[in-house]
Amino acid sequence: MSSSFVSTSATLAAADIVALESTHSAGVTARRPLTIVRGEAAYVWDEAGNRYIDCIAGHGALNVGHCHPAVVAAIEEQSRRLMICPTSLYNDRRAQLLSRLTKLAPEGMKRAFLCNSGTEAVEAAIKFARLSTGRPGIVAARMAFHGRTLGSLSATWKPQYRRPFEPLVPGFRHVRLNRLEELDEAVDETTAAVLLEVVQGEGGVVPAGREYLQGAQALCRERGALLILDEVQTGVGRTGSWWACQQMDVTPDLMPVAKSLAGGFPMGACLIGDRVGRLPAGSHGSTFGGNPLACAAALATLDVVEREDLPGRARRLGEMFHRRLAAIDSPLVREVRGLGLMVGVDLRIKATPVLKGLQERGVLALPAGPTVVRFLPPLVIEEPDLEEVVAALADVLASAET
Ligand SMILES: *Cc1c(COP(=O)(O)O)cnc(C)c1O
Repeated sequence: MSSSFVSTSATLAAADIVALESTHSAGVTARRPLTIVRGEAAYVWDEAGNRYIDCIAGHGALNVGHCHPAVVAAIEEQSRRLMICPTSLYNDRRAQLLSRLTKLAPEGMKRAFLCNSGTEAVEAAIKFARLSTGRPGIVAARMAFHGRTLGSLSATWKPQYRRPFEPLVPGFRHVRLNRLEELDEAVDETTAAVLLEVVQGEGGVVPAGREYLQGAQALCRERGALLILDEVQTGVGRTGSWWACQQMDVTPDLMPVAKSLAGGFPMGACLIGDRVGRLPAGSHGSTFGGNPLACAAALATLDVVEREDLPGRARRLGEMFHRRLAAIDSPLVREVRGLGLMVGVDLRIKATPVLKGLQERGVLALPAGPTVVRFLPPLVIEEPDLEEVVAALADVLASAET
């Protein structure tokens, strides 16, 4: 029997939306019973018209906020002119974006490979590291998240994500984060790269230490390995600087970015430093990578981030948000961690019921491991909304205590 026909222009009832998605999606994502149909800046609305402060923000893909007018206009304009242009041909928008992105990038990163997602940017980094060094080994950190395709999954730590898909790519190993002696022991003449997040996102919002990252850079340089810093979540202003590594005074050799790069439009990039050798033609590629539509969206996004000084805003609002969260007087709060507007509240109880309580109070947040509530608000969020988030969390925790 065929499923019921649904015209794309029809407005679906809430129950139909849930039924259709539940029946026909692959089912690989746990879902909350909430249907979102519209977004603007730091807000989203459900199908019944209820408004939420969105601290999920597409898992950190909306630093400029939902439907930023400049991004919308760029997509509209470019979609009428040219959407696809293979990388075997030159294109004006792609040239502009490559020039812009590499200017904004950390020192010495003058090349970039354009793709469509975070995991693809990480895959590119892994391949380029192997290609450039002629070595197989990748050293990553425990608790790391780098994506879910087989290469990036091999660097991801979580056993539930990995185990069903083994055997994964050979040559990967994991060491404890912030233990330089373990890295010292792991990096040798077979190591292509050390792969780290500057702040672990999915792993619980855990910043890597400054000395640790600088030590990792020194070890890589000394032993002929490359340093890959995965800035898929921390990049484009999120942590209070364009790239989180800039606050640590560390320069990676390869830097995967994605999430907020094109203002909500799917795009990834792997930035390439001068310690990476020549990458031969044909060694990597992507049909949609660097398409003019994504490039136009990214150009508009980077403009907004610069013009509205979103890194500065993330730093200022992040400090205020962090301080207010830490001042919540609850025995259930173990620790408030993070950098800029990437903030985790580690609880002495499970995060899931707290996320539900927040949602009932009009705030969407996400987990980072079993006990951490993570906030990744758009960087354009207004201060009163952050105060409302803090008040909602305080209220949820107060009712959870009793
Ligand atoms: C989200 C994320 C990825 C994967 O990005 P996708 O676009 O979901 O493939 C990789 N690394 C980090 C640090 C991430 O946060």
